[in-house]
Amino acid sequence: MKIIRYQDSGGQTFYGAEQENGIFELDGNPFDGLRATQTKADVRKILAPVEPASIICIGLNYRHHAAESGNPIPDVPVVFFKGINAVQNPGDPILIPTHLPSNEVDYECELAMVIGKKGKNIPREKALDYVLGFTCANDVSARDWQMRRSGGQWCRAKSFDTFAPLGPRLVTTDEIGDPQSLRIATRLNGETVQDWNTDDMIFDIPTLIEFLSGSTTLLPGTVILTGTPHGVGVARKPQLWMKPGDLVEVEIEKIGILKNPIRAEV
Ligand code: MG
Repeated sequence: MKIIRYQDSGGQTFYGAEQENGIFELDGNPFDGLRATQTKADVRKILAPVEPASIICIGLNYRHHAAESGNPIPDVPVVFFKGINAVQNPGDPILIPTHLPSNEVDYECELAMVIGKKGKNIPREKALDYVLGFTCANDVSARDWQMRRSGGQWCRAKSFDTFAPLGPRLVTTDEIGDPQSLRIATRLNGETVQDWNTDDMIFDIPTLIEFLSGSTTLLPGTVILTGTPHGVGVARKPQLWMKPGDLVEVEIEKIGILKNPIRAEV
């Protein structure tokens, strides 16, 4: 199923199922069970497909990206969190921070998975049973705050408002097939800046779930960002930053395109 979350013309939020002949209302929510209806959805605005319980991120999880960053291949997954305040809808702007200013705002296309049911100490063989589905994410990062003004922590740099666009749809695990063979790309103003495949991940999806659920409960609605491939702006020569007026697109095979314009925070 392709699930969207949307606002109707009355301003209320619903889930819908995208089908070839349109979007249809769903009763319930993805974590307690969704029931299909035959009612066409009144979609005014597409929202991020989930309201995350938390956002767990994996750093340096693609071999070529670890290399471009000058880092060795990690022995264990590198884990950090993004604040849930950072979630942004498809089509809504990524805001360049001005009150706590950044001049080095970067893109990172990432395959995001959504945990569908509570789990702890999940063996890798059962890991995908806990994944409701997948969506596109942009792990937007203020590199100046990440590299030079963070005390070594990444959460500040990656948790500014709007720094976690998600969407445009959640594609359930059964429709994704093998999550380790998806083309994943970023375009900035139409120019391809990242274009790779999830088969380059150092720690695959089952390994990440086994590791992240070790002695740790994963709650329904937890969103896990699985790392970005090479081509990020900070590693380019010359470096490439997003600026007001730009348009950034993250595209993942079988999921779709997550588009966000860039604006200055006011
Ligand atoms: Mg990232």
